[in-house]
Amino acid sequence: MDQISIITQMFENLSDHEKSEFLKYLKTDKPNQKIKSSDTQNEIVLKHSKNPLPDRPDCPHCQSHNVVKYGRNGNVQKFKCKDCGKIFSISTNTILFSTKKDLETWKLFCECMINKFSLRKCAEVCEINLHTAFNWRHKILDALQNMQSEVTLKGIVESDETFFDLSFKGTKKENFSIPRVAHNRGHSVSTRGLSCEQVCVPSSVDLDHHSIGVATNLGKPCIQDVSKVLAQRVQEGSILVTDSYKGYQKVAFENGLTHVRIPRGKHKSGSFNINTVNSYHSELKRLVDHYFKGVATKYLNNYIVYNNFVNFARDTYSNKLSILQDFVFSTACMTRGYAIKNRPALPF
Ligand SMILES: [Zn+2]
Repeated sequence: MDQISIITQMFENLSDHEKSEFLKYLKTDKPNQKIKSSDTQNEIVLKHSKNPLPDRPDCPHCQSHNVVKYGRNGNVQKFKCKDCGKIFSISTNTILFSTKKDLETWKLFCECMINKFSLRKCAEVCEINLHTAFNWRHKILDALQNMQSEVTLKGIVESDETFFDLSFKGTKKENFSIPRVAHNRGHSVSTRGLSCEQVCVPSSVDLDHHSIGVATNLGKPCIQDVSKVLAQRVQEGSILVTDSYKGYQKVAFENGLTHVRIPRGKHKSGSFNINTVNSYHSELKRLVDHYFKGVATKYLNNYIVYNNFVNFARDTYSNKLSILQDFVFSTACMTRGYAIKNRPALPF
């Protein structure tokens, strides 16, 4: 059951007086409250990042600290590395490389993303065009992939798969060639009532709300698909809770995890269940299908990290905003706008 249905049920059980108290509470101003989608641009106040970009960055080519200022190119401070001799600016190899917009616009865009605004709304708020908004969203999500690749799970870890319809949304007809749908060994077409039109996303979460999800294949997953998501990402000695799918047994064994299998037709085994990963899947579905009205399969992995960070991770709105702003501007990101649309139709 999702959180809204739980709250709705609890609300129905309140007395009339309690109901009106609760409604009154909702109407009061609360600190750190998220911006509602209906808020206008003027109401968005940018919270400045606590860690501004460094005064003198390390060399992005050889990571040396031995760096000196080396003149300006228009507004952009240039630096020279005394070790490798290369000249660079703060944005070299980051998302901001060769951007024509200022940092404040990017920061505002990050805020729009935390609020899950549509591309159209992001473009409007940041005064950029739709095409730029699309590129920025994916550059930021590509950068976020770097952060997500560091995530490891521990403690009680729940794993399950979810499925999305195969989608070629946004692919122009003239650029379209039907991808060869590989029938890999171990992938049967019709088992579990799944067709090859369904993109499988094995996902794992721990109870601290760290999460990993990757689109791995079409149709039913095989052991390698599940392993792709879990291998080396879960701390040894953790407890892996899964449904009855046998593939997890091997993965648990290979990664030194204690495996709790929930028998077919049951919802729990002792006190173990997979409720957290199920609610992770509902949130992911809501983001992809409700907020963004379905996304092309080639971008699905980006929306998975979007959900991991913005929806599922446990942190306050303002922390997430400053983490996102600090991280995306400092992490290496070589994504170039023109290359985004040319990604292969299937990300696996
Ligand atoms: Zn260098």
